[in-house]
Amino acid sequence: MSGPSVRLTARGEAAARARHPWIFSGALARVDGEPEAGTEVDVLGSGGAFLGRGLFNPHSQIRVRLYTAADEPLDGAFFAARVREAVRLRSRTLGLADPAGACRLVFSEGDDLSGLTVDRYGDHLVVVLTGFGVAGRLEPILDALEDELSPEGIVLRTEKGMGEAEGLVLEDGLLRGALPDGPTEIREGDLRFAVDLRTGQKTGFYLDQRRNRGRAAAYAPGRSVADVCSYTGAFSVAALRAGAERSVAVDASAPALELASANAQRNGVGDRLETARANAFDWLAAQAEQGRTFGMIVLDPPRFARSRRGVPAALKAYQRLNGLALRCLEERGVLVTFSCSGRVSDADFQEAVARAASGAGRPLRIVERLAQGPDHPVSTACPESAYLKGFVCLAG
Ligand code: SAH
Repeated sequence: MSGPSVRLTARGEAAARARHPWIFSGALARVDGEPEAGTEVDVLGSGGAFLGRGLFNPHSQIRVRLYTAADEPLDGAFFAARVREAVRLRSRTLGLADPAGACRLVFSEGDDLSGLTVDRYGDHLVVVLTGFGVAGRLEPILDALEDELSPEGIVLRTEKGMGEAEGLVLEDGLLRGALPDGPTEIREGDLRFAVDLRTGQKTGFYLDQRRNRGRAAAYAPGRSVADVCSYTGAFSVAALRAGAERSVAVDASAPALELASANAQRNGVGDRLETARANAFDWLAAQAEQGRTFGMIVLDPPRFARSRRGVPAALKAYQRLNGLALRCLEERGVLVTFSCSGRVSDADFQEAVARAASGAGRPLRIVERLAQGPDHPVSTACPESAYLKGFVCLAG
């Protein structure tokens, strides 16, 4: 054995043997061979046994991303093959090959490709890099994507904070082909949405909620809806098309609400959508003050907990938000509530909602449990990849 290597502590070894892809700095007992950022390293147990191979990054708390337990090179061909596998999983097994549709093609840890996310929006692909090593192997990854899908264009979107977290300094921009000037239209079932691939949030659309929008819409007929943290109004559009009386899309972002109005028009329900640019907490409190009530409330806030340390404060915020919603939910109303914090467990989130119900003096029954869609697979080796959880609740 000649290349650089890292030797793990006993605890680090246990995690690596369980195939957790993140090896934190505290799990390293020793680094040999002076690896640079992005270099391939052998991962050794505390006694020196070969456990697998990963990519090293001295800038990141995740010092090594572990990709394989085999003695194989982590070169461009390795990543290209993994990407092809992920793409084929969507088309062949998950049935997500609608050429006008959108889906997540590569979900980082969920596809054993820690640090890489790729979404497909019709003929266009959006790539997000959150790992230094994988960023250095981008060209063969793009070749594989072009070969599998022949997209018209591939664009790079960056995530805030990657400079500090990974030493990865990148700019949004076109990687291959061309992009349309304006938003791209995608199909979600019989709904149509405009997605802004250049300036939209994340990669442009929240694909993880696709199934859940359909589930929530099943309860919408005849109800007035508050779609809180609506982004571009996808829950509203689904609910209105299913027969909701009207919906208010509430979001802090003005451009998101402009697209929400356009999306409602596009689907023939523009006359029943109202938009409100506001802070979700303040808006719900104001509705309760004014005595305005809704038959269904969707709560889909951004990630409240960014780290393990942030979990207690996040749970308080979920409790508060859900409590405010219950104050303006009609009797026998429907609460559809989500958490997208990977660090918040299903049980903890349920507890926060339960506290909100008891605080508001409203009995609440969970009738459906919701999660991220199948194109966002959860790796059992990386529990943090199960980030989206939600409940459909019936209020008393
Ligand atoms: N439900 C959406 C996705 C929501 S993402 C969909 O199906 O597409 C979370 C949204 O919350 C973002 O659009 C963001 O702009 C908004 N947001 C973040 N903080 C907020 C706050 N305090 N009040 C209102 N909206 C907020």
